[in-house]
Amino acid sequence: MSIRFDSVTVAYDGNVVLDSLDLTVAPGEVMALLGPSGSGKTTALRAVAGFVRPVSGRVLLGERDVTDLPPHRRGIGMVVQQYALFPHLRVEDNVAFGLKARKTPRSEIRARVGEALEMTGMAAYARRYPRELSGGQQQRVAIARALAIRPAVLLLDEPLSALDARLRSGMLAELARLHRELPDVSILYVTHDQIEALTLADRIAVMDKARLRACGTPQELYRAPADAFTASFVGNANLLPVTVTPGGAALGAAELTVDTAGA
Ligand code: ADP
Repeated sequence: MSIRFDSVTVAYDGNVVLDSLDLTVAPGEVMALLGPSGSGKTTALRAVAGFVRPVSGRVLLGERDVTDLPPHRRGIGMVVQQYALFPHLRVEDNVAFGLKARKTPRSEIRARVGEALEMTGMAAYARRYPRELSGGQQQRVAIARALAIRPAVLLLDEPLSALDARLRSGMLAELARLHRELPDVSILYVTHDQIEALTLADRIAVMDKARLRACGTPQELYRAPADAFTASFVGNANLLPVTVTPGGAALGAAELTVDTAGA
């Protein structure tokens, strides 16, 4: 399902932190919101989730204007940086939490929890508590919890930033796989990490100081950045190894190397 920001402005105490954002994520697309800390990325995500109310503009999911809907009525799955699992609940109950809150029948809950744990490779850990899991495993459970409600839209807020580098590249590959397995789910992926954005995203929206600076496919932004800021944020990715095949459009290390040589 598409996600559309229609001139969305958010302010805290009169300070505009998201300024007239116009952006559409197509059905089944991964859109990375890439930008430095404080640029308004999380705020944009929270506006879609319903945790912050725009002072003006609209948020649409598909054809539906959800600007005034509470979060639990939006059909959204969300994963944040620090997993935010309930420590006193077993993995399976953490994953079931959103379904129970929605009064889903028990047999359906069991089926969906099983499915979500399978998809994230965590089925063997269903009876464990979060403290008995590694950081990467906890983040998988958080992803399973988001998937269990079968969201049309998945919001990921720096989901890998609490993991060490080795785990991060493994999880990146897993997210790319999940994206392929869920071709209808639109994903908005907040990150300040160029490699994550280049690896996973079909398109990248570059944010700076509350505004959208550029939006395009990784190739477009890399080859023809709109301005120096975008170039500094996307164009220097060739300095780092790209090891995972990107989700949709192909932009591999080889291509980046060729471009760099020609530049
Ligand atoms: P990013 O995700 O790009 O790091 P955020 O969207 O979290 O940026 O924050 C954008 C700006 O809004 C920052 O200046 C931040 O301090 C401010 N901000 C975020 N949340 C709040 C809040 N609840 N109250 C006041 N200011 C906030």
